[in-house]
Amino acid sequence: MRRQVVLLDLDGTLYASGQAIPGAAEAIGSLRKADLRLRFFTNTDSKTVDQVLAGLDSYRLGVAGEELFTPVVAATQYLAASAGAKVLALVSSALSETFERFAAGDGAHTHVLVGDCRDRLDYRALDAAFRAVRSGAELLAMQRGRYFKAADGDHLDTGAIVAALEYATGRTARVLGKPSPDFLALAAASAGAAADEVVVVGDDATTDIAMARAAGALAIQVRTGKFSDQAGEGLTSHADYVLDSVADLPELLSGLG
Ligand SMILES: [Mg+2]
Repeated sequence: MRRQVVLLDLDGTLYASGQAIPGAAEAIGSLRKADLRLRFFTNTDSKTVDQVLAGLDSYRLGVAGEELFTPVVAATQYLAASAGAKVLALVSSALSETFERFAAGDGAHTHVLVGDCRDRLDYRALDAAFRAVRSGAELLAMQRGRYFKAADGDHLDTGAIVAALEYATGRTARVLGKPSPDFLALAAASAGAAADEVVVVGDDATTDIAMARAAGALAIQVRTGKFSDQAGEGLTSHADYVLDSVADLPELLSGLG
């Protein structure tokens, strides 16, 4: 089967520690020349697409806005496809406008959407989310990371808030970010393809590769970013192919046909 869409992870795959991976921009150019459709994905759930795009400027990778796929894009598409959705969004201030259009309407909330809400979280907000889910709203998580790393150390991530709501309500959240196969299916659909027509390229076995496996996509892991940490933990044996870096991707894909 011809694989038409290549889904490329950002952090750890195209850049790492503030530097573009050598050859990354050239590899992207070669994939474009080979007429492959590209999507670039990240689990960032605190920023708008424009903010993520602006953060990529210095790497000069040539990523277009419509090619960027984040849990924010996935959530927007998911909610837009749910007729009459009325959403309680527990998200960052930067994203409140993005989801405002789903907040109107009479009646009970149909969905509770949880993302990075560290600048807005308090008991009242959490309790309102709890009550809405208990009354029948579907619990949606933009991602369920346990913690994230920052310059000053590790911090509580979205998954811990989601887990609190799951614990209190007895419900299980639908995850819209990676490693959810729903995330890959939405990204593939945005490029007009089915999940099994996709190639996923990433550095993280627990998210990128696990998602590709679950969705029936071809999984290619790169030995940059988190790879060496994970190799030490024995997590890196599940990809279809392993490459030293994304620079080797065009050659592999042209060999596969
Ligand atoms: Mg990564």
